Amino acid sequence: MTMRAAVLRRPGAPLTIEQVDLAPPGPGEIMVRIEAAGVCHSDYHYMTGDIACPLPVVLGHEGAGIIEALGDGTSGRLAVGDRVALMWRPRCGDCEPCITGNPVLCQSGPRQAATGGLLDGTSRLSKGDEQLHHFLGVSCFAERVVVSERSVVPVPEGVPAQIAAISGCAVITGVGAVLNAVGECAGDSVLIIGAGGVGLSSVMGAHLAGANPIVVVDVDPEKLERATRLGATHTIDASAGDTVGQVLALFPSGVKWAIEAIGRAATLQQAFDCLAPAGTLVAVGLGRVDDTFAIPVNNLVQRQKRVIGSLYGSANPLVDLPKIFELYLAGRLPLDELIGAGFPLEEANEAYDALAGGAVGRAVIVP
Ligand SMILES: [Zn+2]
Ligand SMILES: [Zn+2]
Repeated sequence: MTMRAAVLRRPGAPLTIEQVDLAPPGPGEIMVRIEAAGVCHSDYHYMTGDIACPLPVVLGHEGAGIIEALGDGTSGRLAVGDRVALMWRPRCGDCEPCITGNPVLCQSGPRQAATGGLLDGTSRLSKGDEQLHHFLGVSCFAERVVVSERSVVPVPEGVPAQIAAISGCAVITGVGAVLNAVGECAGDSVLIIGAGGVGLSSVMGAHLAGANPIVVVDVDPEKLERATRLGATHTIDASAGDTVGQVLALFPSGVKWAIEAIGRAATLQQAFDCLAPAGTLVAVGLGRVDDTFAIPVNNLVQRQKRVIGSLYGSANPLVDLPKIFELYLAGRLPLDELIGAGFPLEEANEAYDALAGGAVGRAVIVP
């Protein structure tokens, strides 16, 4: 079938809204009609060329919708009409990370990213004779997607599509960084740098886990206000300068946990410098492909600090996303607070201009 989709043809160029061809789902695959797709900073890295992927590509990797068709040989767990959230990390179920309970590191993920295909490496997207690529096995800046059935999680009644969409990336990344990468932190100090969709999700996770104090750093007063509503006990305006000094003025011995949700060397450095002895920096934000930051050796050793990365909330999405949906329905994860402006598919570029301009709240594209 043909459908509208937002295509990236080369880095630096705007997305083009085009009629493209979508092949029917193959074995183990499903077709989903997209109801909402989140405007995530990760796509922006590919639009600017910070990170490369096979081109041309239909972008979009956090989305939700309704199953319209099943390919042959699906497991039977999913049916036409089911509501699902999309995952940009599938789990094959057979590789070592999958078997050992770390499906975020499933070996099919990098393969899918490198080939621009689905699990078998081939694409269902084309335009006449031209092959188009999937983005992280999803490509939901489009009216429909064909994805592996291993790339979706069922969404319960009562969870709106835009909440389901952002849960599949920003929310699970931020909440999971606390619940999985940090773990037990009741009464511990947690610093969160960056109050975008991921950072605010970490604030909610930290609040849920009973962390105290919860210190949030951003340059935008409106984002800091949201952070306070979501459980931040202290906010720091980084535009006033000397973030580390401001944090240490409040907590002279430093913080036990620091979550960096931006992906910049300067803020990673600040997060590291704010750590108390035996404190841990959890790096969550993605940077440019060749970005680095310097760790002072003696400070690392003498203070027994730790630096860890957390991808996709270090989650087991099949277990963690249903939990997130239930916590939302129970009123314990106020995810509505994350939602920003809505844009039609035709305005995908405007949605990213707003993101680059520091818009508050997670924008959502409604195809
Ligand atoms: Zn994302
Ligand atoms: Zn796997």
